[in-house]
Amino acid sequence: MAKLFQLPKGTRDILPDEQPYWMQLDQVIREITQIYGYEPLSLPIFEDTALYKRGVGEATDIVEKEMYTFSDKADNSITLRPEFTAGVVRSYIQHGMASWPTPVKLWNTGPVFRYERPQAGRFRQFHQFNAEAIGEQDPALDFEIMDMAWQLYDRLQFQNLSFQLNSIGCPDCRPGYLKVLKSYYKKYFDSICDDCRNRLDKNPLRLLDCKQDRCQPVIEKAPAIYDHLCEACAGHFNKLREYLNAADLTFTLNHCLVRGLDYYTKTVFEVWAEGVGSQNAVCGGGRYDGLVELLGGKPTPAVGFAAGLDRTVMIMQNKKQDRLKIDPSVYFACQHAEARKQAIIYVKQLRERNISCLMGLGERSFKAQFREADRRNVRYVVIIGDAELESRTVILKKMETGEQKSLNADQLIRHLDREPGF
Ligand code: ATP
Ligand code: MG
Repeated sequence: MAKLFQLPKGTRDILPDEQPYWMQLDQVIREITQIYGYEPLSLPIFEDTALYKRGVGEATDIVEKEMYTFSDKADNSITLRPEFTAGVVRSYIQHGMASWPTPVKLWNTGPVFRYERPQAGRFRQFHQFNAEAIGEQDPALDFEIMDMAWQLYDRLQFQNLSFQLNSIGCPDCRPGYLKVLKSYYKKYFDSICDDCRNRLDKNPLRLLDCKQDRCQPVIEKAPAIYDHLCEACAGHFNKLREYLNAADLTFTLNHCLVRGLDYYTKTVFEVWAEGVGSQNAVCGGGRYDGLVELLGGKPTPAVGFAAGLDRTVMIMQNKKQDRLKIDPSVYFACQHAEARKQAIIYVKQLRERNISCLMGLGERSFKAQFREADRRNVRYVVIIGDAELESRTVILKKMETGEQKSLNADQLIRHLDREPGF
């Protein structure tokens, strides 16, 4: 027997039943990006590996273990994008966007790839909606980015959301904090996990987002970075909080929120939602004032976020709101091939008027055609039997009430064309 192929681990097929949620999400993304003044930018799905190594950071989980990296036929090292920001910044520099009106506000969506351990809400190919505002350090822009992320979930009518907020400082103040953090951690060296012992030297900030149980009490009592910010970072953080308060955007200060990418400075935030197993972060972002320069551009501040769309859709589905699927409106049931010739013309005319139609095909009996119309949830069945063919009429049956009418061609088109909601 031939081998049955299966999906690669960590990927999935998005079947037609799920698609209406994606379309609704897509629609909301288009609305809010337009309202907030963000322009679409499409990027390649793969880039030079070096871009991510430099941009995302060598000591991050993404670069250390999650990238899909391979050599192409010319022996170039290529990586499937594990996130958007490095690519956006590459594009910003390459196309001289520094000369565009500032800030340059861009958005993208599409699949991203990370070699992770698959579980509920965690895949190897997943989708992100990504937004970046480049060229401005004003905390009002951090506010705008957070507000847009909030709007997304507000328009989707998500409830029980929370905004987690932290500031992780800048190259001026972070080293001072890291010293404080390391000396605090050294006291607990015997009680923390092996990974954390490693992180202590390699990437101490990541100590704060260790998920091991044994490390939680240590994390909880760790000194908070927002108490060790330089004047500029503290001022920026205070202003942002003032703006959030003024706009009634509630947030939770979270001293353990450090984010998994090395490029962040000052503001970092996440949106948490209930209901995707243990994966409750639907969106994460922050400020990255050093990245443009790190990737070869002039020093340029920037802020952005990425929303995880698969998790978002899972929550939309769980909410069991109205069925989003749009059913076809009209089904033509034909007794013989001759009737089908007539039906083809009607169907064409109705489709030109944006009315979705289906037609019984093949050698199906009338009864089988009615059964199919029922399963497909149509609003009307148009019946063309021998008698109707003879009298050049059709029978229009409204499925909801069972009511039937005999109509000629003009009447049929006019009747369906006037029907609200088609
Ligand atoms: P996590 O802590 O869950 O691994 P992350 O910090 O690695 O998230 P980001 O790089 O900030 O994630 O990506 C932004 C969003 O993308 C996350 O908030 C999440 O909703 C989504 N996301 C991240 N990794 C995955 C994945 N493997 N599968 C599905 N969604 C994901
Ligand atoms: Mg991750």
